[in-house]
Amino acid sequence: MNCANGNKSIRCSVEQCRHHCGNANYCTLDTVSIGTHEPNPTEAKCVDCNSFEKK
Ligand code: SF4
Repeated sequence: MNCANGNKSIRCSVEQCRHHCGNANYCTLDTVSIGTHEPNPTEAKCVDCNSFEKK
């Protein structure tokens, strides 16, 4: 764990995102927006990080 810019309150493993810390599984943003692509979400895979941006 060595990530100066990582937000320790936002753990994330999406290494393809430009906001990912890179050497640790944290997001570097102060806040993220979470949403859903489902009309009636019932489990974790129904929700998304809408702050995702491709590297
Ligand atoms: S913006 Fe979302 S997907 Fe990207 S690193 Fe942060 S939490 Fe992960």
